[in-house]
Amino acid sequence: MCRQSSTEKITVSAMHTGEGITSMPVPGRRCPACLERGDTVWVIPGKSCPVCGTPVN
Ligand SMILES: [Zn+2]
Repeated sequence: MCRQSSTEKITVSAMHTGEGITSMPVPGRRCPACLERGDTVWVIPGKSCPVCGTPVN
């Protein structure tokens, strides 16, 4: 009974996500130094990488 309405909700929110936001929310930028080593480390722009200390703008 209530299954139908919940399915509708999921469809609506999925459409809304595809419309407004182009990609998944990103916490910052990837550290280029760690990226070279094959590690993906997210750094807030203006801060230093928590792993290697490289400043990321
Ligand atoms: Zn790094």
